[in-house]
Amino acid sequence: MRFDHRHLLGIEPLRPDEITTILDLSDQYVDFNRRRDKHANALAGLTQINMFFENSTRTQASFELAGKRLGADVMNMAMQASSIKKGETLIDTAMTLNAMHPDLLVVRHPHSGAVDLLAQKVNCAVLNAGDGRHEHPTQALLDALTIRRAKGRLHRLSIAICGDIAHSRVARSNLLLLHKMENRIRLIGPPTLMPSGIDAFGVEVFDDMREGLKDVDVVMMLRLQKERMDGGFIPSEREYYHRYGLDAEKLGHAKEDAIVMHPGPMNRGVEIDGTLADDINRSVIQDQVEMGVAVRMASMDLLARNLRARPSEVMT
Ligand code: ASP
Repeated sequence: MRFDHRHLLGIEPLRPDEITTILDLSDQYVDFNRRRDKHANALAGLTQINMFFENSTRTQASFELAGKRLGADVMNMAMQASSIKKGETLIDTAMTLNAMHPDLLVVRHPHSGAVDLLAQKVNCAVLNAGDGRHEHPTQALLDALTIRRAKGRLHRLSIAICGDIAHSRVARSNLLLLHKMENRIRLIGPPTLMPSGIDAFGVEVFDDMREGLKDVDVVMMLRLQKERMDGGFIPSEREYYHRYGLDAEKLGHAKEDAIVMHPGPMNRGVEIDGTLADDINRSVIQDQVEMGVAVRMASMDLLARNLRARPSEVMT
C-alpha cells in the first residue's frame, strides 16, 4: 500500500493508485463498521481536532465517529464561540491549536484555498473537509466508493453530474477523481451555473437533462448552492425543478440500472423528487452516508501511518 502524503487537501495531487489504496482500505472499514464492536486503535494516542467554519451535518459527524472508532482523542471546536468571532485570524487560531500538539486537523472553511494555507502553518496532518468552491476530497472518495461497490468498477462508466456545477466543490473534486479513473463525464445544468472553459476538461456539457442523461450509468445530483450565489442564477426554483430537477421521467433516459446520488443536504422538490431520493432501488444516497464514515477512517488511518513513520518532524 503506497500513500505518501502528509495531508489530504484535495483530489488533484492524488495518483489513481493512491485513490485505489484509499478505497481498498475503506472497503475493509465498511465491513468493520457493520460489526457490533466498532473499536480499533489505528489512531490510538493521537489527537484529532475538527474545525468547521461552515455548517455541516454528515461530514462533521462522520469525521467525529471515524476518529472515535479508531481510538483518537477527538475534539470539536465550536467555531461560533471561538476567538475568530473576536477578530482572531484563521492563522492565529491555527497556530494556537498547533501549540497544543494535535496530530490530525480536520478543517472546513468558506474560502477556497484557506485549508491549504493553514496546512503550511501547522505541524500536523490536515484534512480538507471542504474549502469554498475548491475541493471536498473525502466527498469525492466516498462517492467513488459508492459507485465502485454499486457498479463493480470505477472506470469506463458514463457519469452525469447535474445542477449547480459552478459553485460546487463536490462537482470539482468528483470531476478530478472520475477523470483520473478514466470515466466519461457529462455535466448537465443551466449555462449560468456552468463554469467557463469547462469543455477544455475533456467533459461533455449539456443544458438539457433528457439529452445529457441518455444511457448514463450514474446520475449525480448537486444542491443549488444559494449561499455562494451573488445574484439571480435561476429564474425560480419551480422553473429550475421543471427543467433540471431529477424525477422518474427524466431518469428514464438513463440506463435501466443507473444509480442516483446526492451529497446532501437535499432540497427535495428543487433538484430532486423526494420519492425518487427515497427509492432504495435507484437511490444510493444513504449508502453514500455509510461510505463517508469508512472513507474518513481510511484517510485518517493512512495519514496517521505516515505521521508515525516521521516522528521527529511531528515533534518539531
Ligand atoms: N455537503 C456538500 C458540501 O459541503 C454539498 C453541499 O453542501 O451541497 O459541499
